[in-house]
Amino acid sequence: YLLQLYQPLNIFGFVYRGIKEALNEMERMFELLAVNREVEDAPDARPLTAKGGEIRFEGVDFAYDSRRPILKGLDFTVPAGHTVAVVGPTGAGKSTLSRLLYRFYDVTGGAVLIDGQDVRAVTQDSLRAAIGIVPQDTVLFNDTIRYNIAYGRPGATQADLDRVAEAAQIGDFINSLPDGWDTLVGERGLKLSGGEKQRVAIARTLLKNPPILILDEATSALDTHTEREIQAALGLAARGRTTLVIAHRLSTVVDADEIIVLEAGRIAERGSHAALLAQDGAYAALWAKQQEGVAV
Ligand code: ATP
Repeated sequence: YLLQLYQPLNIFGFVYRGIKEALNEMERMFELLAVNREVEDAPDARPLTAKGGEIRFEGVDFAYDSRRPILKGLDFTVPAGHTVAVVGPTGAGKSTLSRLLYRFYDVTGGAVLIDGQDVRAVTQDSLRAAIGIVPQDTVLFNDTIRYNIAYGRPGATQADLDRVAEAAQIGDFINSLPDGWDTLVGERGLKLSGGEKQRVAIARTLLKNPPILILDEATSALDTHTEREIQAALGLAARGRTTLVIAHRLSTVVDADEIIVLEAGRIAERGSHAALLAQDGAYAALWAKQQEGVAV
């Protein structure tokens, strides 16, 4: 009799899990759809041949709505293996640059080129395989830590996982968990802090090993210790890659090869940290403000 009662419950549990899994799959699908919604491969699209991963914005105009231009004739190059950081007031168009590079949207004028190839002329799969993004807010799958990191490269070995977790400064944390790599994250398992989530994203990107890296820095302030760990992990991730840093705070940009100050969709200033401070213009003002603890 008890068994009779138990059976339907068991079936209910089974169905419930089935629905949950279907919902998870749907989330993943929406993520993909969000990527593909705006643009399509050209009929004659070729795979991108990424060598060093030089990024070039050539006279780029862009508007989400034609009545309101966001980027205006933007010209800059990130030479292969270099790091360029983009700073500027909120709404200046910084994150938009990464969306154009990843081809979430197409430019309305000019071109975005990788190693001399227009991103509109190559297949989106090959373009996205060449670019790793560490976003502001990492969305994790409701699955194990292993799944969330290995997602960067299916078929990765445990040794690969250990290596990238260590480089991303999250290895010790994972190993300290009772279930280790098999710990579930998300609503049914461990809730990760913003800093931990970001390190999972860094580990995932290191595993993917792309020639180009976009770091969309978190706006939210992290404590100094976490911030330093993340900086170290990001520094390692950027080594040997062409890196575009979208900086919402200035602490990460000091070591960039070039800093671009974007204001209302145009380059207001550009140069190294030292050169821009010496220039005593917009960047120097932002820097002074941040030293006083005001978010920029
Ligand atoms: P923040 O430092 O606040 O993140 P940002 O410099 O990165 O700012 P962007 O996200 O590039 O700014 O946005 C530039 C402008 O484009 C903003 O005014 C924003 O409102 C607008 N914008 C961004 N995304 C869209 C969108 N999907 N549709 C319409 N307008 C958008």
